Amino acid sequence: MIHVLKEMLFQDVKSENETKKASVILRLNSIVMCIYFLVLLCTFFITGDIKPIVLCVPLFCAYVASFYTTYLNRTKMSVIFVHVLMGFWIIAFIRGFGWDCGVQHFVFVLLALNFTTSYSKLCWKIAMGAALCLFRLALYAYTLQFEPLYMLEMRTYVIFQIVNTVFVFVATITILTIFTEDSQEMEKKLVMYNEKLHRLAAIDPLTGLLNRRSMLEYLGKKEAECKEGKNDSLSLALGDVDFFKRINDTYGHECGDIVLRRLASIFVENIGDKGRICRWGGEEFLFVFDNINGDEALIIMEELQKKIREMEVLYKGEPIKVTMTFGLGEFDFQMGMDYSINDVDVKLYQGKTSGRNKIVY
Ligand code: GH3
Ligand code: MG
Ligand code: MG
Repeated sequence: MIHVLKEMLFQDVKSENETKKASVILRLNSIVMCIYFLVLLCTFFITGDIKPIVLCVPLFCAYVASFYTTYLNRTKMSVIFVHVLMGFWIIAFIRGFGWDCGVQHFVFVLLALNFTTSYSKLCWKIAMGAALCLFRLALYAYTLQFEPLYMLEMRTYVIFQIVNTVFVFVATITILTIFTEDSQEMEKKLVMYNEKLHRLAAIDPLTGLLNRRSMLEYLGKKEAECKEGKNDSLSLALGDVDFFKRINDTYGHECGDIVLRRLASIFVENIGDKGRICRWGGEEFLFVFDNINGDEALIIMEELQKKIREMEVLYKGEPIKVTMTFGLGEFDFQMGMDYSINDVDVKLYQGKTSGRNKIVY
């Protein structure tokens, strides 16, 4: 039974450009209103004040029909139907039994329905909201001028008010729950997805190190900090694997990749929090040391150089050893980023032409 009801509630809408959420809200609203009129029927029977029953029975049937309209081709029709229907019975009850019967509170349910189920532009929704406000004021003005057609007993009015209050809240909470549930879920997913995208866009997939783009972003930030006087020393080291082409040519590209990954883990293990490392391109890596001067960076890089020389990668039983050449310098905040990177690049080239496996500072 519950399963069938659930399936009926969440059945897809037929029109492509309409969301399922609006239909579910309309369906649930129809169910709540059917229950409301059943409760009113029972209330009036129990109190013996049976005049309003004349309205309750056809309205119950009208809400069954409204439930059905959500399965038709366009939800739009159902939205109009629900608005007209609710507007109609609010007027009918107020005219019949006066302001004290309390059905005017259902205008707020209409307001919630208008904002959550209609596909009109926001300005139309706001205009409709203003119209509903006028509608409620007009009803009040009417009751000030004209007496109700029938008066109910005092206790019937009290029960009527209580039932109305409860159902206005139930209907509004139902509408807002369905409307906000998905939105919050979607928002959370979107934030997580964006964070993931951002992380992925910053990382080199082969080595897991930062990529060139994110390092340039970081250097840009550091340069700006320095201009604001927040930073006074930054060191750069550009390293390139010596004769890396030979590894690829001798053992294959896959082996070259393994060597690059091992090198990256050696960098991370040894540099840790002292600096940032990125894969600058191919088999070149850029190291950035914040608040560390050139002399201090040289000590760190010499230690790293030692670890690289000690490293041995086993590939298909063959031990592979590599060395690296580095160009090291301090970031020249006067001359800027391009100049400073070019400076360590020139030093790296000097290291390559003067025998490799060294740090040129
Ligand atoms: P040098 O000491 O002068 O730097 O010699 P080298 O052989 O390292 O220099 P070269 O720039 O000629 O070769 C770099 C090679 O690195 C060429 C390229 O195929 C290889 N390479 C670049 N990126 C990758 C990669 O992601 N994986 C592998 N396996 N090889 C790569
Ligand atoms: Mg190389
Ligand atoms: Mg190279």
